[in-house]
Formats: sequence, C-alpha cells, structure tokens
Amino acid sequence: MLALEDASPEAVLMRGVASDIIRRKTGNTGAIFGQIGFECSPCSGNCPFCSFAKDYTMMPIINMCDEAIAEATRNFTGGDDLYGLYLMTMADYDLDEFLRKVEIVKRNKDANLKQKRGI
Ligand code: SF4
Repeated sequence: MLALEDASPEAVLMRGVASDIIRRKTGNTGAIFGQIGFECSPCSGNCPFCSFAKDYTMMPIINMCDEAIAEATRNFTGGDDLYGLYLMTMADYDLDEFLRKVEIVKRNKDANLKQKRGI
C-alpha cells in the first residue's frame, strides 16, 4: 500500500477490496473505539505511513493537562457504546508519566461506571 500514490486508481481499488473483505467477515458490523492522545509532537519514530512522523508533519507540540484527560475520559465513557479506548503518545515518552496519566483515565472511567450503576 505504501508503494501506491494515495489517490491512484490502484490505491482506491485496494481500499475498496479491503473494505469489502472486512464487511463480509464482520457481517457489516463495527465496534466503536476512542483515542486520547496525551502528547502529540513530530515523532522520532518517523514511520513513513504516519502523519505524526517528524519528516512529514507540521504538527505543534501538544500536551494534554490532567483535567483535559479526565474530561476526555468521561466524555468517551459516558455512554454504553464504547468498545475500547486507546491512549496514545509518541515514540519517545516518559513511562512513569504515561502510567500516571493511565491512572487518571482509570479513575474517571470508573467514576462514570459507578455513576451509571448508581453506586
Ligand atoms: S506516532 Fe507511532 S506510527 Fe507515528 S511515527 Fe511515531 S512511532 Fe511511528
């Protein structure tokens, strides 16, 4: 896929075939996932397919504060439809800080569950 031009007929055909395969395999159903990007910046991973790659992006550095993470978590987990929640950062990150933010997500997800169950 990376060898094809994004808007080429070959790329469009490949995406169409992939879409057809996945729709047939899943009975045309889907699952809803959310993603919270704790930190965004030009990424040193520099993967050629990724819009965050430092050689391709004009993205500014963004760091979500704790309250924004908590609010995003409550917003994503406030209903019953979310199947999974991804937490994202860049290739270079501080593991301890990442785990501290995961705890914020867990606390706020749990608060929503307790509220929904009337606990
Ligand atoms: S964000 Fe992930 S996929 Fe994108 S360049 Fe960095 S390591 Fe690669």
